[in-house]
Order: sequence, then structure tokens, then C-alpha cells
Amino acid sequence: MTPSSALVLFSGGQDSTTILAWALTRYARVETIGFDYGQRHQVEMTARSVVRDRIAERFPDWRARLGDDHRVDIRTFGAIGETALTSQRAIEADARGLPTTFVPGRNLVFLTYAAAVADRRGASRLVGGMCETDFSGYPDCRRATLDAMETALRLGLDRELSIDTPLMRLTKAQTWGMAKALGGEALIEIVLEDSHTCYLGERGLRHDWGYGCGDCPACTLRAKGYAEWVAAGRPALAGA
Ligand code: ZN
Repeated sequence: MTPSSALVLFSGGQDSTTILAWALTRYARVETIGFDYGQRHQVEMTARSVVRDRIAERFPDWRARLGDDHRVDIRTFGAIGETALTSQRAIEADARGLPTTFVPGRNLVFLTYAAAVADRRGASRLVGGMCETDFSGYPDCRRATLDAMETALRLGLDRELSIDTPLMRLTKAQTWGMAKALGGEALIEIVLEDSHTCYLGERGLRHDWGYGCGDCPACTLRAKGYAEWVAAGRPALAGA
């Protein structure tokens, strides 16, 4: 446990639920930030509150460290993106090979807002669920991009600030293993029942891996990772 304060970029999905737990095992005070950029659905914003509440209920040690939630309206930015996440375009690949769910520069914007909030709140760590292992290859999720962003924020804010990305090198199966290592079956249950990953905002059908449409890229990835983790015997990730 370090005395540092951390601000977690928290969307209410599987990855950000796992990194919230990760931060709560490491830092004395942990706050969360979420962005409303004009998602097709508000399911994601609702999931954020539910996951925070469940974590506070099930983990008394973590409840003591879990601080404020910050919600930031960046719908003007979402209007610029105009991708499959925020409009009714189909989810497919563009000329760069990037899925139309890619919102250009989105993570850079998130990090800039988060750094401004962290500065005000005296937090020296930003924690994000970015992953370059088996996600869709978003260039602003790569560690090289985040290293450059970390440098820019340190210089621009003239303060010590780090961007932690504990999932960066993990597969989706290992992310389930990290959740188990951090919070056992109680945390796995929160991820399965309460976190929300589906791009389409579907929560009708409960699959073995949680709720979602089952067809969009986010559901497909989540389902595949869960299946791999189960096939491996649901191991806890060593050293998480
Ligand atoms: Zn889906």
C-alpha cells in the first residue's frame, strides 16, 4: 500500500472494474472518473454506479479507500468522433484497418481531462485499462502513446504524474485471472453480473460471460477471453 492517491478511468466495463480493484489494493485513496461522450446508450453510465456500489458492499477494506466519482460531459467531443459507438454507423473496418468503433484521439482526451481532475484532487497516478495485447489495435491504447502522453502531462502540469496500465500486456483470459487474484469469486461475480462491455448496450440475455448482445466486437472479445480462462481451469493470475 502506497500513500499515493489514484484516479481510475472507469467506464463500468470488465477491464475498468478490474483496474479499479487493482488500484484499491495498492493506493491509499482511489477516485474514479467517467466520460459521457454521447454514447448510444446510458447503460454504461448506470453500470459504473452499480459496480462501485457492489465493490463497496462486498469489500469493506476497499470501501474505506474508495473516494469520489467524477463524471465529465464531453459530448462536444463525441460529436466530432461520429463513429459506430456514438452514431448509427455499422461496426466495420476503415481504410487503416481500424474498426469504426475507434473514436480518433479519444484516450488522449480522456487522459487530459483526467489529469486536470487529478491535479485538483492531489492524485499522482492515473490508472487506465488500455491494452495492446488482443484488443482492436487502437493506436491511442499503445504503451508508446501513453509514455508520450505521460511526459506531455508532466511537463504541461509541472507535477509528478504517472499513467498506470496494469492490463497492457495481458490477454482477456489473464484479465479474468487478475480479477480472481485481486478479489476472488466475489469480484468475478461483480464483473459477470454488473460490469457492462457490450457496444450496443444490450443487457437482455445473461451468457456465461455476462450480459451483452454476443455479436459486437466487445462481446466477442469478452466471451472468447472468458472461454479461454474457463478452459484453463479459471486460474488466478500470479503476481497480480
Ligand atoms: Zn455486444
